[in-house]
Amino acid sequence: MPKLTLGDFELTVFSDGTYPLDGGAFFGVVPKVMWSRKVEADDRNYVQAGLNSLLIRTGKQNVLVETGMGNKLSERMVKFYGQPALLLENLAAGGISPEDIDVVINSHLHFDHCGWNTIRDKNRNVVPTFPRAKYYAPEGEWQYARKPSERDAISYIPDNYDPLVASGKMTLLKGGEEIVPGISVKTFPGHTASMQAIIVQSGGKTACYISDLMPTTAHLDLTWGMGFDLYPLQTIESKKEYYAKALSEKWLTVFTHDAKTPWAYLERDGTGKMMAMEALHPQSR
Ligand SMILES: [Zn+2]
Repeated sequence: MPKLTLGDFELTVFSDGTYPLDGGAFFGVVPKVMWSRKVEADDRNYVQAGLNSLLIRTGKQNVLVETGMGNKLSERMVKFYGQPALLLENLAAGGISPEDIDVVINSHLHFDHCGWNTIRDKNRNVVPTFPRAKYYAPEGEWQYARKPSERDAISYIPDNYDPLVASGKMTLLKGGEEIVPGISVKTFPGHTASMQAIIVQSGGKTACYISDLMPTTAHLDLTWGMGFDLYPLQTIESKKEYYAKALSEKWLTVFTHDAKTPWAYLERDGTGKMMAMEALHPQSR
């Protein structure tokens, strides 16, 4: 699993696996002749999407950003998306047990971002997967998830968050809060109205889990938004705002759905086009 040092923090990407997403839905209005140069699609037009969680070891706490798709999908949804359910195994392979997680942060509440928040115990009760953790998610997202539109109702599975809110284990965020020293959230509307990026700062360096604002390195162009975005014009404005900071301050960007490149530094080439630069040796930057 990809690992690097950011100031005093250690960052590791843990995957919940990959799943098939319709290429058209993944790239919205971008024609296939253009996106198919950047990513491969199978004969049914599906693209393999990653499910990248970010673990931040601050030295005092273990903070897990996003919990993948989990293992509670309905049979119907398993037909569409499969259910790789690899996150706990991958964490274990990295020496992390569910009890080791102190904080869980969800950027938003779509099922492929908060699935392992909870599991069913042997009596089929929904319980927290990370028993010691304090959970955090955007308040606006939770409000919306209680009454989603017809278009995106399938994206919300209340068992991933409602029991946590009811038991007081999940704190709802307005945006802008610092959750532990060096780790804060910022709202970037577009994909949903209240999606929050997670900003990680230590030793003068910054990383940002930008979530579905730009889910993969193939989505860097301002106009390459996902078909799922509820507010595509706001996605463009939010990307502009993000690039203004991330380029000038050399932020490391973490990509939630990129199966090959989970993180990268962003730069512009001579023509102004955005490029993702490999982050293999970010310590030396
Ligand atoms: Zn989403």
